[in-house]
Amino acid sequence: MRAAIEKLVQDQCPPNKVREWDRDGVYPEEVYKAMVDAGFVAMVVPSAYGGMGSPMADCAILYEEVARPSVDFATRIALQGWGSMILADFASEELRQDILPKVVRGEMKLSFSLTEPGSGSDAASLSTAARRDGGDWLLKGQKLFSSGADAPDNHMIVAARTSSHKDRHEGISLFLVPNDLPGITINRLDIIGRRVLGLTEVFFDDVRIPQRYLIGEEGRGWSYIGRHLERERITLAANYIGCARSVLDEAVGYAKERRQFGRAIGQFQVIAHSLADMATELEAGRWMTAVAAWRYDQGLPCRKEASMAKLFVSEMLQRVTAAGMQILGGHAYTTDYAIQRHWRDARNATVGGGTSQIQRQLIARDLGL
Ligand SMILES: Cc1cc2nc3c(=O)[nH]c(=O)nc-3n(C[C@H](O)[C@H](O)[C@H](O)COP(=O)(O)OP(=O)(O)OC[C@H]3O[C@@H](n4cnc5c(N)ncnc54)[C@H](O)[C@@H]3O)c2cc1C
Repeated sequence: MRAAIEKLVQDQCPPNKVREWDRDGVYPEEVYKAMVDAGFVAMVVPSAYGGMGSPMADCAILYEEVARPSVDFATRIALQGWGSMILADFASEELRQDILPKVVRGEMKLSFSLTEPGSGSDAASLSTAARRDGGDWLLKGQKLFSSGADAPDNHMIVAARTSSHKDRHEGISLFLVPNDLPGITINRLDIIGRRVLGLTEVFFDDVRIPQRYLIGEEGRGWSYIGRHLERERITLAANYIGCARSVLDEAVGYAKERRQFGRAIGQFQVIAHSLADMATELEAGRWMTAVAAWRYDQGLPCRKEASMAKLFVSEMLQRVTAAGMQILGGHAYTTDYAIQRHWRDARNATVGGGTSQIQRQLIARDLGL
């Protein structure tokens, strides 16, 4: 499976093309179509709705391989997995039957909008609100940092407050929101990395949402998000392993080729040991991710393991990308090499999907603190 995925991904995403997509901030929809046709999206959608419902352990291999040319390709597929599982777990049967087969066929995409300008780590303090209007809902507010929300045929899963309570975790509901409804404005943000998929801000000005697009029960959204975040953390760890592998491969290749003082720089023990440390940390991260995925597949508690994998792998990625950049010397600073793009993309790893500080908070809570 790994070899088949690797072949398609490497064929579809040659380095010169990825460099252009990053430079221009363009997601190549033809590449997504090829991945859909190959069944990559089907793997992350439950089998009851036309997908393959692959175990998380297999999906971790998928994400690692798809992330190698750019983590953004894995993120686009991850968004389909996260959104599909939220719908499969909580939406009405009618909505699942309507949406999920279209996601598998690539006719519809999903994204996730939780973060707002005033609520990041403290996501439950969100202020985007939806109020009833006849049989519909009217959505008003703003989301920030929504990955890929502007994709063609995209439906956003939007968290909004539908009633006020003393406990801010109560009264949050999830809605499925097609991104072309009247009253929606989506702007791409000017960002330093993750430029292929892109990051957006989304404005909702009394957007009319039919009742059938309410996901699950009104006011239960926070509990739905909780289950989602566990999956998200395992997936993100797998994505970042793919990114770290690309950096390691490029740095090893360079260390073998580049000659200074009459020998390949990889012959200098300090460079060789740096690469050995990178490879070792990467392998440790892969095992932590695999264990979290395995526990998830077994139905065992995995909140702590998911946070640990996300924390370790995203921090490891900072060390690996920094060390790789150092090994390529001045050449790392040009766009001739992909390493600078991975380094820019990686910068978000310790922030998106819950910052490292928040992961530590969650792990500490599990320790009874
Ligand atoms: C590339 C990218 C893609 C993203 N994609 C999405 C997406 O698709 N959908 C979505 O909803 N969001 C997305 N996000 C948002 C992301 O999840 C948030 O950026 C993240 O949760 C942090 O929120 P914040 O940026 O507002 O930082 P803040 O919460 O303001 O945090 C700022 C700093 O304070 C620290 N801090 C905050 N609270 C605590 C605390 N209790 N203890 C210790 N330290 C603390 C943080 O760790 C951080 O270092 C994305 C972000 C990026 C950059």
